[in-house]
Amino acid sequence: MRSIIYVVFALLAALPAFAQQKLTVVATTGMVADLVRQVGGDRVQVESLMGAGVDPHLYKATAADVAKLQRARLIFYNGLMLEGQMSELFDRLGKRGGKVFAVAATIPADRLLKSDDGSHPDPHVWGDAGLWSLCAAPVARALAAADPTNAADYAKRAESHRAELEKTHAWAKERIAAVPVAQRTLITSHDAFAYLGRAYGLEVIGVQGISTATEAGLADIVKVTDFIKKKSVKAVFVESSVPKAAIERISKDSGAKIGGELFSDALGTAGKMHTVAGETYDEGTVVGMLKFNINTIVEALK
Ligand SMILES: [Zn+2]
Repeated sequence: MRSIIYVVFALLAALPAFAQQKLTVVATTGMVADLVRQVGGDRVQVESLMGAGVDPHLYKATAADVAKLQRARLIFYNGLMLEGQMSELFDRLGKRGGKVFAVAATIPADRLLKSDDGSHPDPHVWGDAGLWSLCAAPVARALAAADPTNAADYAKRAESHRAELEKTHAWAKERIAAVPVAQRTLITSHDAFAYLGRAYGLEVIGVQGISTATEAGLADIVKVTDFIKKKSVKAVFVESSVPKAAIERISKDSGAKIGGELFSDALGTAGKMHTVAGETYDEGTVVGMLKFNINTIVEALK
């Protein structure tokens, strides 16, 4: 009898902890982790595999990552071949339905751009805040399927994040207007900014193409240098997750200054704040990353 009472008390004591248990989520990039945190709030425990400055095109899962992915209740990744070295792993982990979600794959196909060789869509969708905002509701639905009790809360948070991204989208369009139309050319290390360019009216040239898997050749460097001289482009930009040598060479050969470092395929450091034109933002979030990039571009090209 006494042992039964003990078991009942032990179960009752454990109940509140069980009820408050968070959904364990593993995300690949910082951008995807930020999206899931914004939508999931306190009810999810999100771990990101890739930190600041890490290139997702080249990233290979470690043994520790695979263990984390297996333990997680849900896995969110970007998809559209961004995490090119991890595709097979996600296919394998996704065989058990309802666990693995590619957030960018939820965007309607007619809103996506093609990669250079046309073999798959361009994965860099977070560069357009309006496009990225479309991924919030699908994340809420995936969280709700795993945790139906809090479905309404996820839906509400997704809607509020969507609105914040829409606001950022409108802000970016307005901010770009400070750059004369003829000067709106964005030259970077690789083609990470096609969506940003389309959304905010910039002609975009990436020296290395859509993935970083192939390095820029001398011919690419000469071609871009000639273009800069012909069009008198004022500045070129290095990226936080890609080696800087090709852009530094182009800057030297063409006379265009280095306009700053952009966050292309990785967020900045979480909690690192910037204040520009009276606005403060965190470079470790997608909204902060976009504001940082747009401000850096505008200040260098205007
Ligand atoms: Zn990229």
